[in-house]
Amino acid sequence: MADTMDLDVSDKVLICGGGIGGLALGVALAKVGIPALIVERGKQLRSAGAGIRLQTNAWHALEQLGVAKRLREQHFRQESIEVRRNTGLLLGRSVYTEDDENRGVVRNELVLALAEALPEGCLHLGCNVETVAIDDAGNGTVTLSSGQVLRPKLLVGADGVNSKVTKALGIAPTAYSGHVGIRAIARFDEGVPELDTVTKVILGGPEGSFDLLFPLTRQTQYYASVFELPEHEAKDFHQDKALHYLKENSKHIHPMFRIPLWVDNIRPEEIYAHQLVDRIPPKDEAWGKGCVTLMGDAAHPTTPFLGQGGGMALEDSVEIALALQKALKSSAASFKDMPSDVLVKALREYELIRAPRTHDMVALARYNVNLVCCKRTWLGVWLRDWFIRVASYFTKVSFYTDWDAKLT
Ligand SMILES: Cc1cc2nc3c(=O)[nH]c(=O)nc-3n(C[C@H](O)[C@H](O)[C@H](O)COP(=O)(O)OP(=O)(O)OC[C@H]3O[C@@H](n4cnc5c(N)ncnc54)[C@H](O)[C@@H]3O)c2cc1C
Repeated sequence: MADTMDLDVSDKVLICGGGIGGLALGVALAKVGIPALIVERGKQLRSAGAGIRLQTNAWHALEQLGVAKRLREQHFRQESIEVRRNTGLLLGRSVYTEDDENRGVVRNELVLALAEALPEGCLHLGCNVETVAIDDAGNGTVTLSSGQVLRPKLLVGADGVNSKVTKALGIAPTAYSGHVGIRAIARFDEGVPELDTVTKVILGGPEGSFDLLFPLTRQTQYYASVFELPEHEAKDFHQDKALHYLKENSKHIHPMFRIPLWVDNIRPEEIYAHQLVDRIPPKDEAWGKGCVTLMGDAAHPTTPFLGQGGGMALEDSVEIALALQKALKSSAASFKDMPSDVLVKALREYELIRAPRTHDMVALARYNVNLVCCKRTWLGVWLRDWFIRVASYFTKVSFYTDWDAKLT
C-alpha cells in the first residue's frame, strides 16, 4: 500500500476515503477492469468502530467482491435475535432461517480483507483531502494536504459522514440524532466464556437506554450501548468517558446479560464513542453532478438502528461497478476512452437505483431510534414494549436484506 505518490488520475476513478465503502469500491472496480486510486487520510489501515453486524445483503456484496469466504471462516453466524427489557423480560425472539446470514465481524478484519483484495498501488494512506472543488461542467478537483492537485476522470466521495465531496456538491450537513453510541470489543485470549450465537437487544426503562450484544469470533464479543445526550454534552463525550458510562450502565441491566464481564475485558484501544448523525437522501433525486458521485455514509449517513450503514456502502460499491461496466461495454474499449456523457449517464443511473432504497433505510433507522432509544414515561415504556411484542410476532427482524445485484 503506497503512502507517497506521484498520482496521475486523469484516466482513473479517484476514491476519496478508504473506509468500508471506498475499499470495497476499489475491489469492485478492479473486478470490472476499471482503474482506481484511493486516497485515505489515515496513516494506517484501521477502522474506528470495533465490530459491525453484516446481514444477508452485505454478505452477498462481499461474495461479489471475493472476500466473503475468509471473513466467514473467522466470524460466527448468528442463529437468532432476542429483544429483552433490561430486567430480562423477553419481548421478542426471531430465529434466522437458512436464507438469512447475519454475522458480527471485527471491523479491522473487514477492512484488512478488502484492502488485501485491492490491486497493487491502488490504496494511498496518509493522504488527507484538504479541499474539493466541482466546476460548472461537473469535473472534480481534489487538493491534498501535501499540496498535490488531482483532476480525476471520475471522483467518488467515500469520505464518510463529514464528507468534503458531499459539501462541495452543496448537500446539507448531517443532523445530530440526539444520541451517543459506544462500541467496544471484549477480548478473551482463552476464548469467550459460555459463548452463544444469539444477538441480544436490551431495552431500558424510562431512561431510554439501548444495549446490544453479539459474538464476533472465538475470542471476541461485541458490546454497544446507545443513549440520549444533549448536543453540547455529546461534543465532549469521548473514549475516556465511555468506559465509565458502561460501568454505571451495567448496574441497571439484569445479571443474565453478564455486562460486567464484557466491560472488564474491553481494551482501551477497542472502545469508541460517536455522536450519531443522519441525513435522509431524497427518494427520487440523483445526488451527484457531472463526473462526481457519492457512496456510503457520504451519500446516505444513517443512525445504526437498522444495522445497514456498512451494508449499504458495500451494495453501493457493487452498483457503481455494475453501472460503469455496462456503460463501458456499450461505449469504449477502455475506461480511458469512455465519453464523458456516457460516464455521467451511468453515474446518474447508479444514483437513481440507490436513492429510493437508501432513503427508506435511513428513514426507517431514524424511526427505530425514536422507538427504542428515547426517554419516556412508564406508560410510554409499557406501550413501547407491547408494540415490540406485537411487531416482532408479525415482522421479520432483518429489514432490507433482499438485494441481489451481481458483478458479471
Ligand atoms: C454506533 C454505530 C454502529 C454501527 N453498526 C453498524 C452495523 O452493525 N452494521 C452496519 O452495516 N453498519 C453499522 N454502522 C454504520 C457503518 O459504520 C457505516 O455506515 C460505514 O462505516 C460506512 O462506510 P463508509 O466507507 O461510507 O464510511 P467510513 O467507514 O466512515 O469511511 C470513511 C473513510 O474516509 C476517510 N476520510 C474522511 N475524510 C477524509 C479526508 N478528508 N481525506 C481522506 N480520507 C478521509 C476516513 O478516514 C475513513 O476511512 C454503525 C455506525 C455506528 C455509528
